[in-house]
Amino acid sequence: MTDTFEAKGKRKKLVAELRQKGISDEEVLRAIDKVPRHLFMDPAFLIHAYVDKAFPITSGQTISQPYTVAVQSSLLKVKKRDKILEIGTGSGYQAAILAEMGAKVYTVERFRELFVKAQRILTSLGYSADFFYGDGYDGKPQYGPFDGIIITAATPDVPELLLHQLKTGGRLVVPLGDSISQVMTVVQRIGPDNFEYSEHGNFVFVPMLKGTVNGK
Ligand code: SAH
Repeated sequence: MTDTFEAKGKRKKLVAELRQKGISDEEVLRAIDKVPRHLFMDPAFLIHAYVDKAFPITSGQTISQPYTVAVQSSLLKVKKRDKILEIGTGSGYQAAILAEMGAKVYTVERFRELFVKAQRILTSLGYSADFFYGDGYDGKPQYGPFDGIIITAATPDVPELLLHQLKTGGRLVVPLGDSISQVMTVVQRIGPDNFEYSEHGNFVFVPMLKGTVNGK
């Protein structure tokens, strides 16, 4: 699995498209330009890798749309060496973007198969991240507190335990809503028990579910 000139060219176009759609964080755009998204997808779907759409991966899950990855990554306001916790590793693409931006990434996935695959791809690309197989609802308190927490699955409510793993000033980015549509929400911790909410448009994610799936 390698990167190609063709894929690099397609990524430049994708970055231009994301700029047009309003993404302005240069570090996010640089990371999208750099990370070979096609390597996170099934080889049969390579031609779709740089179309700005979500796409099915194994276990009935999806690799997020590049625009969505760009919005969530921008809202996190990542700085180099920030500790970021991701709930919902999926393909590992979002984790790779955050690692490319210089974050120290901790990522949790409830499907064992995806956890194994994502870890393999990131390692082969030279990104270091800490991967966990498990239910992300409880977060990873032993590795916190975090500068940022990103949930890449839909949930009606913010998981309470995650809020308390944020540093003061830290930001949690989560699509809040039902299974049809969600509102991208940022929850910033401004004091021990003081949280500020802001809303950033409508999105559609697969649901956040409890428990784990061991699979094959
Ligand atoms: N960030 C991913 C998008 C994955 S889709 C990417 O870049 O490809 C959402 C993922 O969240 C799915 O893989 C799903 O299995 C996972 N998920 C849902 N509920 C979860 C939970 N409670 N804990 C951990 N992962 C969860």
